[in-house]
Amino acid sequence: MLVMKFGGASIRDAEGLRQVAAIVAREKSPRVVVLSAVYGQTNEIREFSARLANGRSDVDGFVRAVRERHERLAQGAIDDREALARALREVDARMLTLEILLYGAAYSGELTDRTFDLVQSYGERLANPLLEGALASLGVKAKGFESDRIGIATDGVHGNATADLPATAENLKRTLVPEIQKGTVPVVTGFFGSGPDGRCTTFGRNGSDYSAAVIANALDAGVLEVWKDVDGFMTADPALVPDARPIPTLSYDEAGEIAYFGSKILHPRTIEPVRPKNITVSLRNSRAPDNTATRITAQGSGRWSEMKSVSHSSELALIKVYGAGFAYTPGVVLGISRQLFDAGIGIYSVVSSQLSLSILLHSRDCEKGAALLEKAKGAVVERVELDRDVALVNVVGDGIGGIKGLPGSVFTTVANAGVSIKQISLGGSLNAINFLVSRNELERTVRGIHDRYIVKAAG
Ligand code: ASP
Ligand code: MG
Repeated sequence: MLVMKFGGASIRDAEGLRQVAAIVAREKSPRVVVLSAVYGQTNEIREFSARLANGRSDVDGFVRAVRERHERLAQGAIDDREALARALREVDARMLTLEILLYGAAYSGELTDRTFDLVQSYGERLANPLLEGALASLGVKAKGFESDRIGIATDGVHGNATADLPATAENLKRTLVPEIQKGTVPVVTGFFGSGPDGRCTTFGRNGSDYSAAVIANALDAGVLEVWKDVDGFMTADPALVPDARPIPTLSYDEAGEIAYFGSKILHPRTIEPVRPKNITVSLRNSRAPDNTATRITAQGSGRWSEMKSVSHSSELALIKVYGAGFAYTPGVVLGISRQLFDAGIGIYSVVSSQLSLSILLHSRDCEKGAALLEKAKGAVVERVELDRDVALVNVVGDGIGGIKGLPGSVFTTVANAGVSIKQISLGGSLNAINFLVSRNELERTVRGIHDRYIVKAAG
């Protein structure tokens, strides 16, 4: 069994949809397709609905634009007349529900987490019939499914759900497996499932990779193909490092480490569901469909202690919280983490000392987070500082954290590039070394390490 996942960038226009359909059609083994929303659609819905709750809105105009976009895509990608009519009917029905939901939010002036999840899911719900139709036009017996209706089970946490893998496997045995056995190619919406109360819950931004991995787990798939419109993992970001090259093979651990800090190639949670079933993840580029870009397996390249990549993220910020009694006051770290968590702010890492706590978080959350902790000043917290000028460098390779002398030599390389390190995080994983530098020194740092450990090591 094969699970094939396609992202929004692959279906940004009718040409893309046709290409995706062709890739699915030429595959002959039993397969399930998982599809995201059309490129940019989730963002548009999120932004529009957030504005709605603040009272400013043109629901009619917005709905018209979304509808037209999907109708145009259907007309451009679906040749078979009956299939086109079916897809247009589906789009129409789904648009009607979306419209009602948006009007509901506009009139009530509020957007609950529950409704926000539901409206966002319409990006995927609208894209789904387009591919179903395009596949039907190629003679593939395809059938669209909405993931919250077939039992992709979640823990019900809106906006950041985790899948219930055993429950999902049970459900899909009933809803999807008989279809596959009949020779149908299911096209399933990515990004969301249904919680214990049956409500639509999303897996967080870019969660369709994770959805696909959840489905692969439930169906005991041999391979999960994640199709992109770029090459797979690279040894570094080619925008920063001209001689960066694709990485043919990675282990689960390595891929997880690279994905965790900002690499947009794969959702970091994709590895969780595939690991226990030993499913190979194959990253493919739809512009070069005959080759595998990166293969991710349990054992990876088998070359232990080799540096595979030096990735980075510039979308981070650091909040530093100072207080004299940190080391002696139980529960401070917990309390502070709790406060951020309750405000929906995720934390990448926490480094603590006797007098301070450094919290690494996404830069979009940093103002809100700092303001929140500012309010907590008093008993223990004395001062809160926000440092936006940080970039994280993430050096990855199975076992590299355990090589005697390697971290030291990496930091010497950084020093030789004339860069001073702001903060180091080491030892949390044997497979990664990461540290923070100023943003304007990022390029030099990444190039220096890449040159010394990846280019020279290979050459
Ligand atoms: N459409 C969703 C998003 O943009 C999920 C995904 O693309 O994977 O976040
Ligand atoms: Mg996306």
